[in-house]
This record gives sequence, C-alpha cells and structure tokens, in this order.
Amino acid sequence: MKNRLIQSRIFYKFYFKMIITLDTKIERINKVGAATAKRLNSLGIEKVSDLLFYFPFRYDDFSKQGEIGKLEIGQNVNITGHIELIQNKRSPRKRMNITEALINDGNDTIKIIWFNQPFIARQLKVGDQISVAGKIENDYSGPIMKSPTYEKIMNGQTIHTKGLVPIYNLTGNLTQKQIRFLIKQVLPLTVRIEEWIPEKIMISQKLITLDEAIEKMHSPKNETDIQDAKKRLAFGEIFLLQIASRLSKNNLENLPALPSLFKEKEIKEFVSGLPFSLTDDQRKASWRLIQDTKEQKPMTRLLEGDVGSGKTVVAVIGMLNTALNKNQSVLMVPTEILAVQHFESVKKMLKNFDINITLLTRTKNLNNKNDSISKKEILEDIKNNKTDIIIGTHSLIQEKIQFKRLSLVIIDEQHRFGVEQRKILLEKSQNNSPHLLSMTATPIPRSLALALYGDLNLSVIRQMPKGRKPIITKVVPEQKREQAYLFIKNQIKEGRQVFVICPLIDMSDKLGVKSVKEEFKKLNEIIFPDIRIEMLHGKLKTKEKDEIMRNFLDKKTKILVSTSVIEVGVDVPNASIMIIEGSDRFGLAQLHQFRGRVGRGEHQSYCFLFTDSRSEKTRERLGAMEKYDDGFSLSKIDLKFRGPGEVYGTSQKGFPELKIASLFDFELIDNARKEAMTIIEENDELDKYPLLLDEIEKTKKISRLE
Ligand code: ADP
Ligand code: MG
Repeated sequence: MKNRLIQSRIFYKFYFKMIITLDTKIERINKVGAATAKRLNSLGIEKVSDLLFYFPFRYDDFSKQGEIGKLEIGQNVNITGHIELIQNKRSPRKRMNITEALINDGNDTIKIIWFNQPFIARQLKVGDQISVAGKIENDYSGPIMKSPTYEKIMNGQTIHTKGLVPIYNLTGNLTQKQIRFLIKQVLPLTVRIEEWIPEKIMISQKLITLDEAIEKMHSPKNETDIQDAKKRLAFGEIFLLQIASRLSKNNLENLPALPSLFKEKEIKEFVSGLPFSLTDDQRKASWRLIQDTKEQKPMTRLLEGDVGSGKTVVAVIGMLNTALNKNQSVLMVPTEILAVQHFESVKKMLKNFDINITLLTRTKNLNNKNDSISKKEILEDIKNNKTDIIIGTHSLIQEKIQFKRLSLVIIDEQHRFGVEQRKILLEKSQNNSPHLLSMTATPIPRSLALALYGDLNLSVIRQMPKGRKPIITKVVPEQKREQAYLFIKNQIKEGRQVFVICPLIDMSDKLGVKSVKEEFKKLNEIIFPDIRIEMLHGKLKTKEKDEIMRNFLDKKTKILVSTSVIEVGVDVPNASIMIIEGSDRFGLAQLHQFRGRVGRGEHQSYCFLFTDSRSEKTRERLGAMEKYDDGFSLSKIDLKFRGPGEVYGTSQKGFPELKIASLFDFELIDNARKEAMTIIEENDELDKYPLLLDEIEKTKKISRLE
C-alpha cells in the first residue's frame, strides 16, 4: 500500500501539469493520438476510469523464468538476456522477411526468430538487455523461440513479458502492447477509486477493496491475486443487480394486484377451439399463470420457451381470463411489425368472444370492434375500461394512457426492454400493481435467473409443438457458396422466400446500414438480378419498414436482407430459407433465434450458415448448429466455447453485462443475494451508503433487469 502511494506521488509529480484524473478523456493521456482514441472509444473507453475498468479476459503465464541452458520443449517461459546478434534475412522459398536474433542470459544462447516484422531489427540493437516471452519449440539446431513477445528492459521494468501478462479483448488496430502501456500509465490513479460496498460486508465476505482489485486485475503477481480481484468484482456485480432488482420490485409489491378468477368454462372452450392441442408445457404454464393471477399479490413470472414453442397462446389464455373478469391486460412487444402481427392473431384467436382488443403504436391505432377509431377514442376507451386487451410497442410507455383496471402486463421478448421501461408501464395502473409475465426465447440458466431476478417464478416450455419438420442446417464454406445460391434460386422458383441476415461490419455501422446495403447490392445486381429483393435496416422509418415487411408477408418480395437486430418474433410461414452471413460472428443462441424465423409453415426449411472462417474451433462451434435443434443445448455449447460474458453479456441479447461474475458460481451468487436482502430489509440502511446508492443508479440505467 505504502509503495503504491509513493508510486502515485511520483506519478502526480510527473503529470502535474496535465492533472490527469479519473474523468480525464483518454485523448489527453500522454501518447494517445486521435486515431488511438477513436479505437479506444469504439471499445467503450472514453475516460481514464473506463480504461481502469477495462479488464483482461485472460493472462499469459510467463511467471517461469527460463534459464537458457535448461529449457524444455513446449514450455511457456520468460527469458531475459542481452542481444548478441540481430539481423534481417529473406527466406528463400516463401519470400518472407525473417528477423533472427541470438539472446544470451550470461551462460547460454538461444535463437529467436520473428516473421515479417523487419522493424524489430531496427528497434533492438546488439547489447540491448531484453526480455522475451513465448513457447520453446524444437528446431533442427536445438531449442528456438518463434515470434515471442519482446521488450527492452528499461530501469529493470517489464510490462509485456514477465509474470502473468494480461490479455485484453481488442478490436481493430489496437495492440496488446498499446493498451498495457496505457493502463500502466494510469494505474496509480486507482487509489482514487472509492469503495462502495459497505465495510461490514467487505469484512464478512472477506473481500479486497475495489482499488486493490482493479490493480490486481491489471497487474497480478500470482494466481491468488487474480482470484481475489475477481471475487471482489464479481461480488460487486451480483450484489448490485440484486439490490437494483429487489428495489424495483419492492416498490411495486407494496400495492395489491387486481385478481382474476379462473373462468373455467370459457377457457376450456377457447382451448378446444384452437386448431391444435396445447403441449403439456403450454398447459402447465397457462395453469400457473391463471393460479398466480387469482391472487392479490402481484405475480412476477418469466416464461421461457424456444423460438416457435408457442408462448403467445399462453399469453392469450392469460389475457382472455383477465378480460373475462372485466380486468385489462397489456401486451408490450419490441417492434411495430410484431405488434401488428400479434394484434391480428389475437383478434383471430378470440373471434368467438366478446372482447375489445386494441392496437396502439406510434403510428397505428386499430380496434377489433371499430375500424375507424381515432387515437383519442382509443385512449378514452382504455380509461373507461371499455378496452380489455391492449397490444402495443414502447409507445405504450410514452403515451398518456390511463388504465381503469389494469391487472396483467405481459412483455414479449423481455430482454429488449429496460427495467425502467417495464417499471413505467407497471406504474400506469392506479392504486394497484399489475401481475407481470415476461416472455423470452433466450434460455437462461436457472442460476442466472436467480442472480438477476431474485425470487422470480419461472415457467419453461421445453417441448416443441408436434409435427414440426426439423430445419436442415448447413455450414457453408466459401467454396460452396455458389452451390448454395443455386439451390436457393430453385427454392424461390418453387415459391419459397428467403431471409438474409447480415452481421455488423464495423463498430461505426451501428444501425447496420452499410452492412445491409452492401449485401443487398451484391445479391440484387450480381447473384439474383431477376428476383425481387428488399432490405431492412435501422435507418428506415417505421412506415418504410412496415411496407417492406408487408411486401414480404404478401410474397411480393422473395428475399429480405436485414440486420441482425431489427426484427424479432415475426411470423412468415412461407419463408423457408434462412441465410446468415458471417455466421461465425454470432453466438449459437442467437443463430438459433434467427433460424427459428423459418420452419413455421408446411414446407421443408433450411438454414445456411455462411462463413469464411478457417478456424477449426469456429467450424466445430457452428457444426453444433447442424447437430442440435434446441436452444438449451446450443447455449450450453456456446458457454463452453465463448464463456458467459460473451454469451449472455452482449447488449444484443439485452442481459446486464456481467464482466467478471460467473453464472455458475452459485456460492458467490447466493452470498451476494443474502447480503443484498439484508441491506434492503433493514430499511433505512441504504441511505447510509451514498456511494452504494450512486452505483445502484448506474446499474439501473445500464442493465435490463426484468
Ligand atoms: P414463440 O414462442 O416463438 O412466440 P409463437 O407463439 O409465435 O412462438 O408460436 C409459433 C407458431 O406455433 C404459431 O403459428 C402458433 O400458432 C403455433 N403453435 C403454438 N402452439 C402450438 C401447438 N401446441 N401445436 C401446434 N402449433 C402451435
Ligand atoms: Mg413470440
């Protein structure tokens, strides 16, 4: 500790003129140019503090200091010594530049080579004291190191080649060396980061302080340092999530819900009138829903079910039962197209019942009983409890809607909404707190559900409806692309339709405009010039999107090129082919969601995963899509390949970002939950911790909890 203070004092002296603080923009740090700053920004790093909180995802272990005379083949080591010889050569056959060096550690010499980095021979000179790290390989002339990380030793210090060397997730042209160097510069500032976990919890959970944890993450001395640091950070993450979700729930649970009794006769009539029979899981989920909504205690239930497993009908049963009790329900969905589709299908399903159903979005207002209803009338009807079921988008939150008897709120594709949005909707009900059903196709492990939502109730639909034809999935490498296009052409001739999903090309292309336009141009001009194709991306106006979707539903367009984020849950039964470009860039769970857009009609459906990746790991991962057709197995495999941070942490899937915490660390999750409960239950406790309150506010903003 003392040492660090001294270090930081030197640091302050050195940078005194610049006065770097945690809030200093990174472009003001020494040696960060505009280009580098931009690259850092694209990683979400804008200020010094962001840099400190940008943690490595793994470490290279160069804690073994090698003696050149005693090296073993295959060993990862650090070697320090001076350069005896360094020169550039051309390899005769491969026309490659090779930099050769001999390093001597005082006793013995080892040969080192680098490929196509001729500048190294200019940076390093004979006699330089250097440190290299890498794997020892076998060469005909003895042990050798190929392309090791290297650095000159200055004042006896190293950053890149000794001990546990942090490896960061980087994009673009940023290098590990650059980011390590930057972090090292600002690391002394961690002493300014304040601890927000209450002290008694720090003690009872045996946690190290936040500033220590940050320092240890970036420059650990040993494994234990990393473990301690991760424990502190992971605990903090889960603890905050728990408090934030508990708090938002507590506010709501103070009021009673409007109960709805089980209208057995009508519900049975509805179920037997369906063109299919419910699966057992659908039956169970519906039953639990009806049981819960009978109570005055507001329900919080999550309904999980794979894409196409039939969650909507469960929601409809809940809304019907609610309506039969003269109570109101709301179904909120993430997009306008989806809202319209739900409106149409709910209207159809409930045509034999005298129920008033309304669609309310920013641009569209419809009612099943009155074709020419105005927005004003719709709002009036909702206020007077003349409307039973209201289906809409985010605009439900923004509108000045007043409900008379709101009893059930259903949120479809729940991960697309933030906790605040959900809360605003729930609070629109006066003097009571509605029951809440969230629906999602993203399979969340039970441990995660618990970590995120505390004591929420979970219903899972595991079985798919009977008679679904499995979708044929193929990973298509570059050389087979032509063949795939030929097949697609034939399918279109037979009347089928095709979705094409494009990945985002780069960070700046947030709305996917560039990516979609490029793909569209290629398909439209070169591959399928005589087929009608349209494109959908985030820059289009709602009206344009609607029209494009309508054209596709009406089979006017044959191919729809779209971004990955834009449409969820839309049902186009005639579409039988799903093409995913750059499929290696997506997680399996997400690929599975895309795939679920087809295979909904009578035709055999196909999913083609295009990839130009030659990595074996990628092939293996994508290969899982060919083998498995359920989201649960796939997300398990995804976890194995990519780790929970990536699988559940991306904003696209809308989970709160768990940077450090593992979803499988049950003990830690449990401890964090208990501490969170205690602090909340001792009511005014929270007010004693202003720093904690600040953190909670931040969490609420960035995470989408329920
Ligand atoms: P998701 O769970 O993805 O929201 P949907 O509710 O949209 O799935 O249902 C997908 C399709 O399956 C719909 O066309 C629906 O009518 C149909 N479906 C739902 N349940 C069954 C069932 N038990 N048997 C056959 N088809 C069903
Ligand atoms: Mg759905």
